[in-house]
Amino acid sequence: MKRPGRVAVIGAGILGASVGWNLSRQGAEVVLVDTGRPGEGVTNWSFSWVNASNKTARRSYFALNVAGMAAYRELATALGPDSWWFPGGHLRWADDPAAEAKLLEAARLLAGWDYRLEVCTGAEVRRRLEPALTVPDEAPVVFYPDEAWVHGRHLVGRLVGRAVASGAELRSGTSVHDIGTGADGSVRSVALSDGSRLDVDAVVNAAGPDAAHVAGLVARHLPMRREPGAVTRLACTEVPVRRAMHAPHIEIRPDGDASVVLHSREIDALIDTGEEPAELGARLHASARQVVPGLGTARVARTRVAHRPIPGDGFPSVGAVPSVPGYYEAVTHSGITLGPVIGRLLAAEILTGTPDAMLADFRPDRFPAMASGEV
Ligand SMILES: Cc1cc2nc3c(=O)[nH]c(=O)nc-3n(C[C@H](O)[C@H](O)[C@H](O)COP(=O)(O)OP(=O)(O)OC[C@H]3O[C@@H](n4cnc5c(N)ncnc54)[C@H](O)[C@@H]3O)c2cc1C
Repeated sequence: MKRPGRVAVIGAGILGASVGWNLSRQGAEVVLVDTGRPGEGVTNWSFSWVNASNKTARRSYFALNVAGMAAYRELATALGPDSWWFPGGHLRWADDPAAEAKLLEAARLLAGWDYRLEVCTGAEVRRRLEPALTVPDEAPVVFYPDEAWVHGRHLVGRLVGRAVASGAELRSGTSVHDIGTGADGSVRSVALSDGSRLDVDAVVNAAGPDAAHVAGLVARHLPMRREPGAVTRLACTEVPVRRAMHAPHIEIRPDGDASVVLHSREIDALIDTGEEPAELGARLHASARQVVPGLGTARVARTRVAHRPIPGDGFPSVGAVPSVPGYYEAVTHSGITLGPVIGRLLAAEILTGTPDAMLADFRPDRFPAMASGEV
């Protein structure tokens, strides 16, 4: 297969930045286009936990997430870890017998799949890892030492900077509103909202929550789930936690030297009841104080509701769409965990035309083509 000339990557979140950097460092001509500023989409409003322990629904999906964790370790060596990479593991515990049984059952399954973990007691966790927690002394707490969190916006900044240094062009503050195709249906150009049109040989749809709209520009139907999530940033003088954790009813992680991020699936369930972000943030803060009393003096800096980019069946949509030569997708939930590995695999596929077996279960053409007459 002929190596594509110019590639437009639509969206500079974690997915687009990863694909764009991998393409440009291998000599491809890349234009990264983003409606806003790189890394300020859902990538900046994510819990940002790098893991495979929550990805056991399908073995191939678990394997892809494990590869995602390994890709981060390589990336930390390649880029230098500074302000974006925070290894140190992840803690999880429950406060009712049914949830605790489920947690321990998952731990047994994961241990059988050679995933590293330790089952500790609450007292041990306070002594060795997190002194500020209220977890009961005897409660079983699962510690996943290879998991991590990342600062998504900082990482995107690093990846885009590297891509630009190796020759990529960044067009931020402008949207792709049209994709032009030739008589044979192959991608030829993109039209931007700043009035320009770029000749390209390929496009990568990395538009995150707006991926279905971009797919529609090549008359493709990409079904997406609607799953909004609320994330709160607390401002604090001292950050009382050292790593990401799933405590009962609340997820907590550090977010740098003076900030903590909070999220909860239970609070997400209130989004569609009409509660304002400020109320959701206050609830998250109240829940976090139960687990880490030291967060009582923190204040809610900002709460934002963001949409998870989840293809209809819950799994990633990655790779070429044979009916539209030159059109590729990089759309996924768990995109923080998966961005670096998908970026590497997809860039290799675009440059060599050889599909990677690791992505076999996640091909875009598993979604049926648009019915005739549908737009
Ligand atoms: C509450 C919540 C918690 C989460 N927790 C985790 C977690 O713990 N671990 C994990 O791995 N994942 C998590 N995720 C998912 C993860 O955040 C996303 O999968 C990931 O950030 C998606 O990155 P992206 O690059 O696809 O999207 P984005 O970061 O949104 O980037 C897409 C970019 O495309 C641009 N764009 C859109 N349309 C156009 C257009 N037409 N032209 C030009 N630019 C365009 C946007 O401006 C945006 O910058 C969570 C998500 C949410 C909402």
